[in-house]
Amino acid sequence: MKKLLLLPLLLLLLLINACTQTPMEIHQRAILVDTHNDVLSNELINKLDIGKLQTAGNFDLVRAKEGGLDAQVFSIWCGPQYGKGTAFKFANREIDSLYALIARYPDRITLVRNSAELEEAVKEHKMAALIGVEGGHMIEDRMDYIDSLAKRGMGYLTLTWNNSTSWASSATDETLHKDSLKHVGLTDYGKQIVHHLNDLGVMIDLSHPGEQTFYDVLATTTKPVIASHSCSYTICPFRRNLKDAQLKALAKNGGVVFVNFFSGFVDSTFFKKYDNFTKAHKTELDSLTKLYNDEDLATDKLFVIHKTETEALRPPLSLLIKHIDYIVKLIGVDHVGIGSDFDGAPSYPLGMDDVRDYPKITAELLKLGYTEKDIDKILGGNFLRVLKANKGK
Ligand SMILES: [Zn+2]
Repeated sequence: MKKLLLLPLLLLLLLINACTQTPMEIHQRAILVDTHNDVLSNELINKLDIGKLQTAGNFDLVRAKEGGLDAQVFSIWCGPQYGKGTAFKFANREIDSLYALIARYPDRITLVRNSAELEEAVKEHKMAALIGVEGGHMIEDRMDYIDSLAKRGMGYLTLTWNNSTSWASSATDETLHKDSLKHVGLTDYGKQIVHHLNDLGVMIDLSHPGEQTFYDVLATTTKPVIASHSCSYTICPFRRNLKDAQLKALAKNGGVVFVNFFSGFVDSTFFKKYDNFTKAHKTELDSLTKLYNDEDLATDKLFVIHKTETEALRPPLSLLIKHIDYIVKLIGVDHVGIGSDFDGAPSYPLGMDDVRDYPKITAELLKLGYTEKDIDKILGGNFLRVLKANKGK
């Protein structure tokens, strides 16, 4: 009799415990992985120490801890002006800077190459650092450069950035410059690269490649792929976002799309407002571009200088959540994650100012009725699954 009474009591206690957990407790307990952050490029240009609290930018180790961020994929990136003889070298310089950060703060951050190491880092309360090489041009068409980058910890390779390679076409080129492309999609050499990445256990990132490359890769890969920082094209029709058919194909492959926070990918009205803003400040933007020798960086500065104006361009947080919820409803909760693009874009939804703000996503998902189990998957579980599935030979 006593036993019979104990069981409902135990269940009641469990229920009370689940109900009394705050969104922050649920968030902090989950493993949170962000698959895309560009801070290393800023760190190199501005000589920042991102181990210390920064007043600008979106990421440093201090704020990341507050936001409950357990694992970060650091983007290794250089523009198309780097080519044969320079791009691979630059990629290695950026990796050196991540290694230097880890050497300065060995108690707080560590390089991980697989899911076991990631989970070990979480247990040790260290940030797990992963490397994502964003742009196939950095391998300079050489398989041995892929091997070398993989040895240094490359967790994923984004097959193209906005510029196509000689073996894969980008979303930008497939959409805007299709006639000038020598090939559309993946060439035979591109297919060999996909197989090689599969063998090495390096994940294939399809966030920047064009639609033809996307489908060619899905027909070639033997492992699940990722889109490390893209959103839903149906909600925001921008060429880097994924159409419903692409999302369905990605789910069939077992892959995951990690939702990008950039206002331009979240809100379909953003780019028009953004163009009006940059046109209104053209002279200032031109002189900043000259000063920094980089238009993207100049635009970021312009956004900070005119903060009151640019605040009005930001979409509501609910629109970012809508992308997550839309994709979950379309292809299931096993195929969505977080890829902020922090430190890589000039504007994010209201309330998403930096890495301290991830708990707001957890709180919003709870409000929509998402279970703790679902939230665990979105925050990091899906990434761990796809990382495990990509394990090399
Ligand atoms: Zn990108």
